[in-house]
Amino acid sequence: NQSMFEQAAPLLAELEKAGFAAYYVGGAVRDYLLDRPIGDVDIATAALPEEVKQIFPKTVDVGIEHGTVLVIWKGEGYEITTFRTESEYKDFRRPDKVSFVRTLEEDLQRRDFTMNAMAMDRFGTIIDPFNGREALKLGYIQTVGDANERFSEDALRMMRAARFASQLGFRLHEQTKEALSRCAPLLKHIAVERKLMEMNKLFAGRKAAEGLQVMLEGGLLAYLPGLCGQEKLLEQMLTYDLSRLTASQKWLLLLVLLTPDKPLDWLKAWRMPAKKIKHIAGTYEWSLKQRLCGWSDLALYEAGVERAVDAEAVNALLCGRSASLEELRERHNSLPIRDRKELAVTGQELKAWKNEAGGPWMKSYLERIERAVVEKTVENDPEKIKEWLEACNLL
Ligand code: ATP
Ligand code: MG
Repeated sequence: NQSMFEQAAPLLAELEKAGFAAYYVGGAVRDYLLDRPIGDVDIATAALPEEVKQIFPKTVDVGIEHGTVLVIWKGEGYEITTFRTESEYKDFRRPDKVSFVRTLEEDLQRRDFTMNAMAMDRFGTIIDPFNGREALKLGYIQTVGDANERFSEDALRMMRAARFASQLGFRLHEQTKEALSRCAPLLKHIAVERKLMEMNKLFAGRKAAEGLQVMLEGGLLAYLPGLCGQEKLLEQMLTYDLSRLTASQKWLLLLVLLTPDKPLDWLKAWRMPAKKIKHIAGTYEWSLKQRLCGWSDLALYEAGVERAVDAEAVNALLCGRSASLEELRERHNSLPIRDRKELAVTGQELKAWKNEAGGPWMKSYLERIERAVVEKTVENDPEKIKEWLEACNLL
């Protein structure tokens, strides 16, 4: 952790040499003080984006309109953002336009929670105008300034509060909690994509149950896709030990408890990427199919290891049995084949053996062979497969 800051220190020194104040800010400072692993080191500076670009030889414009320049330094990328405020909030969302300011304090003031509104200079001195350290020590989440105002400016902050509760196991400060209940309806102005991002982070957190509890108590569910009126089911979800599930598995558990008429549409409403939808919908089907029976080799093969593991993790939790996911992985790994491509014969051999033109018969042959190989009825070897087909009177 320390070394991540040390690596970035020369950047601060360069900015200061050019006459601009510069600090580490936001999540990195918070996580450093909590002794948690640091994501990326964000830097804030009085220098304007153009000035930052003049100081460093290698830069990428990643969010110039928000004042952010990516600086490439010794092979690593660092986001350097100009001190700014977000004065004009419209539609309960973060503004498209920002105003640059020249002091750190103004920049810290626009940040969401006191624990996220600290800065650190390159010598390790903490700048903490809102007593974020106290919040870290006592484990609470409190907005910078009036919570009602801050949630009305940007309603996504309410979901951020819930996901930080999950990631850090913190509680909401009293006024912040009250404001959440009052401002919850403003969440309807927020894009689903941003909600999804926070929900994923919430599900990936170590205390997901606490994050979900915050959403329940604050009445946020009513403004999330497919969750309106589902408070009872969410409470049911909280009766399970969620710490045993990955984020994907938590999505699956949620889906299983909700049993929507059209699971695909439910997932689409969250605007998940197609690949993710496919995975979760697949695990959903397998979870239903395998709820009460053990995994045969064929089922394991057909599901594929990732779907099988996710489905089994959730099924075990639902049925109160212990999941042996490692064993499932090992069993999948020692299957004769794990994909049709590994089959020792193709349509070419079949055509030659049968001396027939290609046609729909080939597909059904290949499926029978595939199944027989997976179930170890026949070895995955061309000669053995040929003999087996002959013995079945298929050639
Ligand atoms: P993570 O570990 O998830 O990256 P983080 O605190 O770094 O947590 P980011 O979303 O990366 O969160 O944001 C970086 C910083 O920007 C925050 O620490 C906070 O100071 C500020 N910030 C982010 N989103 C908002 C927001 N919606 N309103 C106000 N300040 C925000
Ligand atoms: Mg971050």
